[in-house]
Amino acid sequence: MANSYDVVVIGAGPAGYVAAIRCAQLGLSTACVEEWINQMGEPALGGTCLNVGCIPSKTLLESSEHVHRLHDVFPNHGISVKGLKVDIKQMQARKDDIVGQLTGGIAALFKANGVVWVKGRGRLLANKQVEVTDHNGKTDTLQAGDIILATGSRPVELDAARTDGDMIVDSTGGLNFTEVPKRLGIIGAGVIGLELGSVWKRLGSEVVMLEAVDQFLAPVDEQVSKEALRQFKKQGLDIRLGARVTGTSKGGKLVTVNYKDKDGDHAIRVDKLMVCVGRRPCTDNLAALEADLLLDERGFVHVDHQCRTNLPGVYAVGDVVGGPMLAHKGSEEGIMVAEIIAGEHGAMNYDTIPWVIYTNPEIAWVGKTEQALKTEGIDYRVGSFPFAANGRAKAMDGAVGMVKLMADARTDAILGAHIIGPMASELIQELVLAMEFGASSEDLARTIHGHPTLYEAVHEAALAVEGMAIHKINK
Ligand code: FAD
Ligand code: AMP
Repeated sequence: MANSYDVVVIGAGPAGYVAAIRCAQLGLSTACVEEWINQMGEPALGGTCLNVGCIPSKTLLESSEHVHRLHDVFPNHGISVKGLKVDIKQMQARKDDIVGQLTGGIAALFKANGVVWVKGRGRLLANKQVEVTDHNGKTDTLQAGDIILATGSRPVELDAARTDGDMIVDSTGGLNFTEVPKRLGIIGAGVIGLELGSVWKRLGSEVVMLEAVDQFLAPVDEQVSKEALRQFKKQGLDIRLGARVTGTSKGGKLVTVNYKDKDGDHAIRVDKLMVCVGRRPCTDNLAALEADLLLDERGFVHVDHQCRTNLPGVYAVGDVVGGPMLAHKGSEEGIMVAEIIAGEHGAMNYDTIPWVIYTNPEIAWVGKTEQALKTEGIDYRVGSFPFAANGRAKAMDGAVGMVKLMADARTDAILGAHIIGPMASELIQELVLAMEFGASSEDLARTIHGHPTLYEAVHEAALAVEGMAIHKINK
């Protein structure tokens, strides 16, 4: 049967495309159904991450960081530039070009691995069948040995601030401004709001962030989130906590945003408003009623620890199953499921997933926060080291923040690592590896780290667990 495959994957984001490639590597005939149409009106692979998520946001963060450095850091080095011009259209064109290269790269990988890209919208039917409706409305049915659902997530919408694609936008709109908004309002001071707020602040916007919750970055270690809030406020991000948006209205070229906090009702006026209040799973109409796919109360596909749904031979991976909404978490689930389908062992360690926020300073962590260890009554020891005492950080103008490690008081196993500072996104990987290998803080402390490097701050934090840091006074 021409339309029959060992595996059919629905969705080609980092969870689905990685699953499809791994299936093909393992000798399974694989099709991947993807409905995405990009800005140029062309079908594209890569999902949220490559098209409107990780990659375009990091590209703009990099460009805007250059602008910030030119203005605020270069003079300190004795370097001045006259007549500095910022061309947002070129900045956006560069971003779009990078996105095009990477999404095109996935198409090339599919071809090289023999993954069949089926363009259209997939719907799970009963008996391991997938109905595909193409962009002309024509339908076809694929028969699968196993099915992997990887349809990802989309921005949560707020009734109080309906997006219009112009003045009120979601994160995708916020990646595509062609001019720097004079005043930018952002609803939600979570990861995405902070990253995109940083981009436009560095490029010259006045940024006001309204966050409903009183606590800043609640999932982050408290010591780190306090330092982060201090740094972001110093940069001029106007972050208002405990501020719940209740409504918006548009008049002329301005949006009025009404919000409530403990002092009462307030209003601000902005040129653009970005709604960044989280993401929800793409499960609307994903499965026909007779397929009987079980969702949880929030609409995520219900799965077990190996990403099996309630239906034999049907798996789900990535944002659509909830948990950390991170590209690498979805990709690892994709690999695990592909290996299980191929009859291999397939497993993943949910305790060592790194988290990163690509602001300046960057924030990254793995494992437990100090507040979680306290709540769970685990006896631990802490070691920390400030970047202010790290030579490389000073040379880089990045002597802000710290590395903090927590180790089990009895076994010395590393339980959590938290970094706020330069290149935290890269540094965290040493701790992820250490935890994956079951390292103790002493193992890290006895590992030779090159000098001068930022990694020395990780080394010193490990030494500090035993009160043995060399370049700080141990108390
Ligand atoms: P998605 O990437 O959402 O892909 C799902 C795919 O399925 C889409 O292509 C969609 O078109 C397709 N699809 C959906 N329904 C159907 C259907 N019925 N038929 C066919 N196709 C369908 N994560 C990080 O780890 N690091 C970051 O730096 C980071 N930055 C981010 C920045 C922004 C602005 C945003 C919005 C997200 C960011 N994320 C980041 C989160 C990351 O993008 C997601 O966790 C990741 O994309 C999830 O991968 P996924 O494959 O599960 O889903
Ligand atoms: P994240 O889940 O990291 O994307 O962050 C989304 C943030 O938006 C969370 O911190 C929420 O508390 C916040 N949020 C949700 N609804 C509102 C609202 N109506 N007004 C302000 N902030 C909100």
